[in-house]
Amino acid sequence: MMQRWLVGAVAAGLLALSAIAQTAEQPAETACMVCPQQLGQGIYMVQGVTALGTVANRNFISNAGFVITPQGVVVIDALGSPALAQALVDEIRQISPLPITHVLVTHFHADHIYGLQVFKALGARILAHEGGKNYLFSDTAQARLTASRSELAPWVNEQTQLVFADEWLSGSQELEVGGIRFKLLHMGPAHTLEDMVIYVSQRKVLFSGDMLFRQRIPFVGQSDSRHWQQALTELSNLSVDWVVPGHGSPSREFAKDLRLTQSYLQFLRMSMLRAVEEGVSFDEAYQATDWSAYVNLPLFGAANRMNAFNIYLQAEQEAMK
Ligand SMILES: [Zn+2]
Repeated sequence: MMQRWLVGAVAAGLLALSAIAQTAEQPAETACMVCPQQLGQGIYMVQGVTALGTVANRNFISNAGFVITPQGVVVIDALGSPALAQALVDEIRQISPLPITHVLVTHFHADHIYGLQVFKALGARILAHEGGKNYLFSDTAQARLTASRSELAPWVNEQTQLVFADEWLSGSQELEVGGIRFKLLHMGPAHTLEDMVIYVSQRKVLFSGDMLFRQRIPFVGQSDSRHWQQALTELSNLSVDWVVPGHGSPSREFAKDLRLTQSYLQFLRMSMLRAVEEGVSFDEAYQATDWSAYVNLPLFGAANRMNAFNIYLQAEQEAMK
């Protein structure tokens, strides 16, 4: 290579330019776009960055997983754009030539589903809880997609579509592929109506979707925060060696992770319920709350106030019942 440069590039400036181009190209050749981490025999995950979706991060802000069985590959969640999903497929192809037979959707939030069309085109069967239809038919889903098509172009664009499941589940269900059993446990209404966690009991691995967040402030949105807390207590009965959260790194500290998400929800609810009971306005209550336990977590600035506001509105509704 060096010899070719010396022959081809007469001027020193041109030589320098070639060297820069060469260096810039190298990472693209070696580094993967969506890098799988192996957690056990045939079990992998890819980890999105801790941030809001941007053009720079290609909306790679959530996690996905895949399990290689002797009869095919089962994918959990589809990432936040078709390009990311294609990158995930390319990585899977480096590991296994087997067909991708299923995609199990933990919930219908944009960052977990905008890649679905890539898997559908490959013939994978998409399974999700039927509560997801509520999102797909909602104005929110359309508005989100329209906004994302301009904010996240070219990663999310006019070709990006909302994709329906091939099979809508009405409750928890078990799926077996190549002798590996997947327990699809419906946990909603919690983070969403349709939350489903995927438990691979033979490997003691749990893909929790957004029931669990790690290393950042959870996104509360329109969740049922009371039932979300209860559902986390139910989950604590599972024997888990590795948990793959919806956001953040995989973890061997399942009990601790559960407590963190749970205590954040509990703190939000306690503070906002008390404010509603005492007739304190949201602004005043937010000001008066001691957020010091959470203020240093990533995305506190982006998410915490909106989370608290949503819970305040829920608390008002609960108080009216
Ligand atoms: Zn998410």
